[in-house]
Amino acid sequence: MPHWYKGVVSDIRPLTETTRHYTIKVEDEEEFSFTPGQFITLDLPIGEKRLQRWRSYSIASAPNGNNNIELCIVRTDDGSGTRYFFEDVNVGTELKFKGPEGVFVIPSDLEETEIVLLCTGTGIAPFRSMLHHIRQQNLKFKKIHLIFGTRYEEGILYKDELDKMKADYPNFEYEVALSRMEHPDYYHGYIHSIYMKKYNEVTQDRRFYVCGWSGMLDEAVANLTEKLGYDKSQIRFELYG
Ligand SMILES: Cc1cc2nc3c(=O)[nH]c(=O)nc-3n(C[C@H](O)[C@H](O)[C@H](O)COP(=O)(O)OP(=O)(O)OC[C@H]3O[C@@H](n4cnc5c(N)ncnc54)[C@H](O)[C@@H]3O)c2cc1C
Repeated sequence: MPHWYKGVVSDIRPLTETTRHYTIKVEDEEEFSFTPGQFITLDLPIGEKRLQRWRSYSIASAPNGNNNIELCIVRTDDGSGTRYFFEDVNVGTELKFKGPEGVFVIPSDLEETEIVLLCTGTGIAPFRSMLHHIRQQNLKFKKIHLIFGTRYEEGILYKDELDKMKADYPNFEYEVALSRMEHPDYYHGYIHSIYMKKYNEVTQDRRFYVCGWSGMLDEAVANLTEKLGYDKSQIRFELYG
C-alpha cells in the first residue's frame, strides 16, 4: 500500500496565462526526499473512481532538505484535473498525494556524458529540478544542452533562471524554439530541427532526455533512433500523456 501524504498549498505563482507554479508544504514531515526528475501522484476530488481522480506531476524543484515541493502545471482545455487546480485550488488548499516515483532521474554520470534535454511546455519541470540540484550541490558536468519548445515568446518558462544558468556555466547551453512566432533571439519552428542538425553525428558518450506529451515525444524518439541512428539505450523519456 502506498503512503499517502497530506500537502498544503503555500504559494501559487502564474508563469503564463495558462501555466502556474505551485508550492506545496508536505504536512507531518520535516523533509520530503526525492531524486530530481521524479514525480508525485495526486488524488484529486474530481471523480468517484480512484483512477479518475489520480493525476501525476513532475516535481519542478530540487530536494532542499525541507518539506516543500514545487509543481509546474499547464491548464488543458477540457481537463478535469487542471480545471480543479486552476479554479478550486488556493493557498491553504489541502492535497493528498503519493510518491515520489519514477526512474526518469538526473544522470549519475554527468561528468562523463553529454546530456541533451528536450522538452516542450511544462515538460521542463523535471529538468528544472535537475538543474537546480546541480547548482545547489555544485555538481560538475561535462555538457548539458536544454532545448525548450513553445508556441510564443510568452510561453517560455523559467527564462530568467535559465538565462542565469547559461551565464554562469559555459558548459550549459539553452535554446528556445518558438513554433508560432518569429523572434530575433529564438529559433522559429519545432525543437526537432535543432537537435537533428546539431547532433547528426552519433557518439556513444551522448544521452538524450525527452519529456512531454506524446506528439513531441514520439517524434523525438523516432528521429533520434530511426533517422539519426542513436541506440535506444541513449534515450530516456517521461511521457505526460
Ligand atoms: C509522470 C507524469 C508527470 C507529469 N507531469 C506533469 C507536469 O509536471 N506538468 C503538467 O502540466 N502535466 C504533467 N503531467 C500530465 C498530468 O498528469 C495530466 O495528464 C494533465 O495535467 C492533464 O490532466 P487533466 O485532468 O486536466 O486532463 P485529462 O482530463 O486527464 O486529459 C484530457 C486529455 O488531454 C490530453 N492532454 C492533457 N494535457 C495535454 C497537453 N498539454 N498537450 C496535449 N495533450 C494533453 C491527455 O492526455 C488526455 O487525453 C504528467 C503526467 C505524467 C504521467
